[in-house]
Amino acid sequence: MAELWKGAPAASALTEQLIPRAQALRERGIVPTLAIIRVGERPEDLSYERGAMKRCEKVGIAVRQFLLTAVSSQADLMDVIEEVNRDQSIHGCLLFRPLPRHMDEQAACAALDPAKDVDGITPGSLAAVFAGSGAGYPPCTAQACLELLDHYGYELKGKRAVVVGRSLVIGKPASMLLLGRHATVTICHTRTADLPAECRRADVLIAAAGKAGVVGASCLSPGQVVIDVGINAGEEGNLVGDVDFAAAEPVVRAITPVPGGVGAVTTSVLARHVIEAAEKAAGI
Ligand code: NAP
Repeated sequence: MAELWKGAPAASALTEQLIPRAQALRERGIVPTLAIIRVGERPEDLSYERGAMKRCEKVGIAVRQFLLTAVSSQADLMDVIEEVNRDQSIHGCLLFRPLPRHMDEQAACAALDPAKDVDGITPGSLAAVFAGSGAGYPPCTAQACLELLDHYGYELKGKRAVVVGRSLVIGKPASMLLLGRHATVTICHTRTADLPAECRRADVLIAAAGKAGVVGASCLSPGQVVIDVGINAGEEGNLVGDVDFAAAEPVVRAITPVPGGVGAVTTSVLARHVIEAAEKAAGI
């Protein structure tokens, strides 16, 4: 039976480390502050926003919401981003994506002050992740995969990592972070010729395809550590990951649950990035 690598213990450990840092900032008169920009009311954005606000409250980070309707214009959005950039009391910004189709997402991401880019959306932050320079902040979900592996004491050096998914939000940055830890990385996508064969070779398998069951029994082998990033609607209206959990559990060494795995850690990573941004702004 696989070990269940839940996100909550990793998230709590991170939160505990952040509380005194937030306190120290407040003692200097600095309230670490996150701006959330949301366009419209997509249920997944609202759910993540609730989680992020709860986590920030626990840590001692103030949150300011900037809410636009789904029919707002690009100019409205750019005005809000400009306001966030100018406001020195805001240290980090979370912009929910995808934006409505009539908006230019690239232009919006590029407009954010890189110093406040706590979710790795600006070209500069992504370039830093790919350069491995350590400047800027990686996308929180990609970083959360590494945090989970670290929390459970998994050594990546020399391991064969396979990432299913090549989005700029998860697959590509997670691959670069794994490479930075000296794993040997394979990135799979919809045109991968033999997904099961690639996956079976993995020591650590990161599933970030956004398709329930895409990692099935034929993709799994004994001893693997499986990080399931996917969040999909299951047949009974429940949330399921990308991995066939029932097939994986008897075979692999460890697996993260959905819900309660990577998602639980993502908001703690976001909180850490906000604290770091506030410390940097204060010259600490
Ligand atoms: P995305 O932009 O849709 O990218 C999905 C990637 O998976 C693409 O690169 C796609 O390949 C690949 N893919 C899709 N179906 C595949 C298949 N059958 N075989 C192999 N590769 C396949 O999605 P995303 O934004 O990266 O998100 C991925 C998942 O993570 C979603 O379920 C999302 O809800 C979830 N998510 C979780 C968190 C969290 O905190 N846990 C946060 C954000 C997102 P191509 O490039 O060839 O199309």
